[in-house]
Amino acid sequence: MVMEAGYFDEGALVGVLTAQPLDRVLDYRAPEGGCQLGAFVEVPLGPRKVLGVVWGSGKGDWDIAKVRQVIRVLDAAPMRDELRAFLEKAGDYTLTPMSAMLRLATRAPGLGDPPSMRKVYRLGHAEPSRMTDARRRVLEALREYGGLSFTLKELAEMAGVTTSVVKGLVTQGAVAEENSPRDLPFPRLDPDLGSKELTGDQAAAAETLRAGVGSGSYGTVLLKGVTGSGKTEVYLEAVAECLRRGRQALVLLPEIALTAEFLTRVQARFGAQPAEWHSGVTMTERRRVWKMIGQGGAQFVVGARSALFLPFRDLGLVVVDEEHDTSYKQEEGVLYNARDMAVLRASLCGARVVLASATPSLESWANADAGKYDKVELTSRYGPAVMPEMRSLDMRAEKLPSDRWISTALQSAVNARIEKGEQALLFINRRGYAPVTICRACGHQIGCDHCDARMVEHRFLKRLVCHQCGETKPMPEICPSCETEGRLAAVGPGVERLTEEAVKLFPDARVATLSSDMFGSARALKAEIEGIAQGSADIIIGTQLVAKGHNFPLLTLVGVIDADLGLQGSDLRAAERTFQLMRQVAGRAGRAEKSGVALLQTYQPEHPVIRAILSGDEEGFWKAEAGERRHAGVPPYGRMAGIILSSSDVQEAFDLGNALARQDAPLRRIGAQVFGPAPAPIARVRGRHRVRLLVKADRGTPLQTALRQWVGQFRLKGDMRLAVDIDPQSFY
Ligand SMILES: [Zn+2]
Ligand SMILES: [Zn+2]
Repeated sequence: MVMEAGYFDEGALVGVLTAQPLDRVLDYRAPEGGCQLGAFVEVPLGPRKVLGVVWGSGKGDWDIAKVRQVIRVLDAAPMRDELRAFLEKAGDYTLTPMSAMLRLATRAPGLGDPPSMRKVYRLGHAEPSRMTDARRRVLEALREYGGLSFTLKELAEMAGVTTSVVKGLVTQGAVAEENSPRDLPFPRLDPDLGSKELTGDQAAAAETLRAGVGSGSYGTVLLKGVTGSGKTEVYLEAVAECLRRGRQALVLLPEIALTAEFLTRVQARFGAQPAEWHSGVTMTERRRVWKMIGQGGAQFVVGARSALFLPFRDLGLVVVDEEHDTSYKQEEGVLYNARDMAVLRASLCGARVVLASATPSLESWANADAGKYDKVELTSRYGPAVMPEMRSLDMRAEKLPSDRWISTALQSAVNARIEKGEQALLFINRRGYAPVTICRACGHQIGCDHCDARMVEHRFLKRLVCHQCGETKPMPEICPSCETEGRLAAVGPGVERLTEEAVKLFPDARVATLSSDMFGSARALKAEIEGIAQGSADIIIGTQLVAKGHNFPLLTLVGVIDADLGLQGSDLRAAERTFQLMRQVAGRAGRAEKSGVALLQTYQPEHPVIRAILSGDEEGFWKAEAGERRHAGVPPYGRMAGIILSSSDVQEAFDLGNALARQDAPLRRIGAQVFGPAPAPIARVRGRHRVRLLVKADRGTPLQTALRQWVGQFRLKGDMRLAVDIDPQSFY
């Protein structure tokens, strides 16, 4: 970025980036009183007023008489150079237009509004004409907090009365009702409050992280620790050091459901909760977080991947927890990987990055192996807990009927746990009741009308659901193909069907099912998880939701129903994913003082990935996997980009795909190869036909520049869309 003057006088030409889909920065005149570089402004655009950011000096390549004036500067801290540079570099890397990058950085409603007000209540001057017990409790509560004000709900809850009691006191003048701005700073956190006693290797790891934060310069460290080794306690010490130095900290979590447990730990460690940024946060609260981060009124944020685009005043630390998790890759809109973007942003603002995982991604493992990242390892589990014993159950030897999936060996292991008052987890990575519904008369399989995907039966919802587009329909009575009645049958297990089997096999056990789609809200799911942790169930049936960091102290047995599931398919990361998921799930067992066992049902016990999982030889697995990828020249040892063309017209999508493949000179210049066009593995989604191409290049080649030139040769017609996915994680 070119260094610019920091301030523009009234009338000076400024370039303003807006979030509107235009491909350029527009010239305006600075408003009355001038404006700062990076200022959030409101500008006229055609007949509308839109939000923008002063991005630099105006170009002056526009009819000077027609240049309009900035309407006003918004009441928000100007965007810092560091964030503008981050948006530009991230946009360059992912080939995303700057308007879309700015949208990512301004995802809070009403940024230009004056601070909204809410009603608060404090002690008034008058005495109520008639004193009741309820009224006395309200006044006592207010006196106890001497002069502090509360919201209506807070005050009523604190006094144990209904809100109408408080309202009655307001009428009498005994309680004063006032307006107060809503965007208040977050409570200060105390970095020296409640640090836990750390064990030997935890203390050493924490010291390394603290020293990193203390250096005040960029660096990334891979914090690898087996499940239950206390990674969170260790990286919270890095957060503490960051806070001591007056800088801001960000912790990214892959799943909102994990946030509640995390908030409790932060409260215990620092005496107050951090700011939250994810889809479960209300719009008003989002705006408060966005503004307070910019003004320094929030020291610590916990959030989803989009929190990386918040306007931090002084970001000193980013922790990416469960860094291998696939949900860090945004698969719609701007296609970015939050793990890589965290490293990019930190390198621009002199912050530290901690990538935490029990089973790191191969990318991070390779970066640590090459010395690009530091590595800190926690080898022992917290307290007496040890990694569970792992065994395979050879399903070829089982003679199970076609509608059963729990082997006799697994069944008796579950019974043994129940007798001891311990918990067992049965894991299957498939939502719904059955993945396929087939007509026994004609063989027809019920598919989605809009996608080339089978509909999955969800008996809990009493519907068929397409997992690609979300389309649902009721289960038909007659076959849509041959119109035979009553011959439609469910094939294969999903988590709901496994529950049905478990209820039959273990009639006296309490069975709980954990699947993300079975809970109306994150709060309901959180309540269920807390109940299970306290022993409300004997058997837990779960999808990959349960693999992610929840703590079940009574759990001592994990049964994996289909360990082979992830090994099917052609995804280059299939082995890595299976290895990570199986190790994560197995790590659920034996986290407290009881030791655990993990049993993997498999039809291919001799498969190298299954053997690596069982032996626990992680380094061996990574080395072998890295060797294969290096040999094939694929990530992280080569570069890839996916191109997805989608159109309502299948022929036009293929015509453009073929033209791209033919006119590949910009790619050939850097030695890159194009594969395809081919129908995408799911060739139709939401009624749009999808065609994909894959570009492979050597590491260190200027892939983005070549892609831009290559794609730039074409104009998109009609409803054709072209998306470029740098470092694709999945190939659907
Ligand atoms: Zn049929
Ligand atoms: Zn569909």
